[in-house]
Amino acid sequence: MTASRQTAQTSVIVIGGGVAGMSAACALAQSGLEVHLVERRGYLGGRASSYIHSGVNEVIDNCQHVLFGCCTNLIGFYQRIGALDRIHWSDEMTMIEPGGRCSVLGPFGIGPFVLPAPFHGLPRLVAAHAFSLEDKLSLARAFRAMLRPVPPDSRETLAAWLARHRQSPGAVERFWKLVIASALNAEIDSIAVPYAAKVIRELFMNSAQAGRMGINAVPLSDLYSGVEALLSNHGSSLHLNSNVERIGWDEEVSEWVVTTRTGTLVSDYLLLALPFEAMGKLLPRMPPADGAEALASQIARHEHWPICSAHLWFDREIADLDHAVMLDREVHWLFNRGRLQPWRKTKGSYIEVEVSASRVYAARERNEAIALTLRELAEFFPAAASAKLEKAALVKEVRATFGVPPGIDAARPTAQSPWPNCFLAGDWTATGWPSTMESAARSGHLAAEAVCKSIGEPRGILDPDLKPRGLMRVFG
Ligand SMILES: Cc1cc2nc3c(=O)[nH]c(=O)nc-3n(C[C@H](O)[C@H](O)[C@H](O)COP(=O)(O)OP(=O)(O)OC[C@H]3O[C@@H](n4cnc5c(N)ncnc54)[C@H](O)[C@@H]3O)c2cc1C
Repeated sequence: MTASRQTAQTSVIVIGGGVAGMSAACALAQSGLEVHLVERRGYLGGRASSYIHSGVNEVIDNCQHVLFGCCTNLIGFYQRIGALDRIHWSDEMTMIEPGGRCSVLGPFGIGPFVLPAPFHGLPRLVAAHAFSLEDKLSLARAFRAMLRPVPPDSRETLAAWLARHRQSPGAVERFWKLVIASALNAEIDSIAVPYAAKVIRELFMNSAQAGRMGINAVPLSDLYSGVEALLSNHGSSLHLNSNVERIGWDEEVSEWVVTTRTGTLVSDYLLLALPFEAMGKLLPRMPPADGAEALASQIARHEHWPICSAHLWFDREIADLDHAVMLDREVHWLFNRGRLQPWRKTKGSYIEVEVSASRVYAARERNEAIALTLRELAEFFPAAASAKLEKAALVKEVRATFGVPPGIDAARPTAQSPWPNCFLAGDWTATGWPSTMESAARSGHLAAEAVCKSIGEPRGILDPDLKPRGLMRVFG
């Protein structure tokens, strides 16, 4: 691969084929730039991808990824690449207790009429067996407090906020830790309140539409099959298996020169869509620039949190639910992949069990982790105890997400980089969202806007947020 400048079209090299890089590359190609999307792996998706696991000879996602209706930029990106019809949407979240008793959260309505926000979820919360009266009263108190916007610069941790709002042990364990802290993938004493408030408002208060949960009905990397076609239809290109080794700025002709394992590319603009640790590794190989040191110290403030998933194939169906939140145990989420992906024609069942933000689980040895998962699964779904486990895979992603402790916003750079004609994207940059695919897609769209503005052709690429509905319009 050696590409020299062949056209007068403005060109940009996007490094990193995760959601951030893909969304930036697609938006820029559609805006008329010549884009080269460069990814070190042989497939797209980064931390949200799928691959053949050789141990079980199955295509698996590196972990179930869920999105919500409020993820407007991710949805916009899926729409542009023709992937939106491969998302399965659900309005309900089932909470299951050891023993199998279920409570269902979600909007309440009769026919097409749903109660106005923020009351749409209230009847089902009131009816939930999973919470005692004391838990429900403390959750009502917390939700009422969250009606008032939390100052974005608040230095309070979620743990301190919960104590200040007298949350009952049941509400803390079964709601705040399991639903909210697991969505933010960190422990409650490491979460800044504004991020928790964002999740609560988007998922439970703003509107029923914002809180709908989306699950991919095909392997994650298959979602991105439209990216290469979109790029080539716009005179752009995708370069897989191309680890970037060196980056130079040619001052004389104002061009970036990017050397990968497979060749050299040149362009007018550079867009770095890397996770923070990869960006940190690349820094010493970038040209010197004022502000590079400040960026290095921002990167140094970030911390990883793990997510683990056990993929289990049984000889029979063990759960008659598509997905569930499992209460009071080390395991957290169940996804019935065989049911959610019927094209797999799984004999028996394929279940994925997810454990968020647990460094204890992540440190467990494989057989011990699988045995514990099976033991706990059987407490919720007794059929798992008598079913035969045909095969199993354990995926530990120790660098799954970055944490959002108080003060983290100061360590999230904007799209503007210290180098000329160079912009930054990635879920960890300044989007206001926690470490999610939506943050990645937003960062890609923000960086694409910055490139367009810089070439003197400003355009709106960021997809607008969903508007709060019902009474939430007053509290927005
Ligand atoms: C196990 C797990 C579960 C998750 N669950 C959810 C969820 O349910 N919902 C949700 O919204 N989010 C979830 N996330 C978070 C989500 O996956 C990330 O926030 C998002 O995918 C980050 O996208 P990104 O493009 O910013 O970074 P990445 O996905 O990390 O992409 C960066 C890309 O850059 C490439 N790269 C790195 N170095 C180089 C180099 N030198 N040269 C060329 N290419 C390079 C990498 O290979 C990678 O493809 C989860 C993450 C994990 C790991």
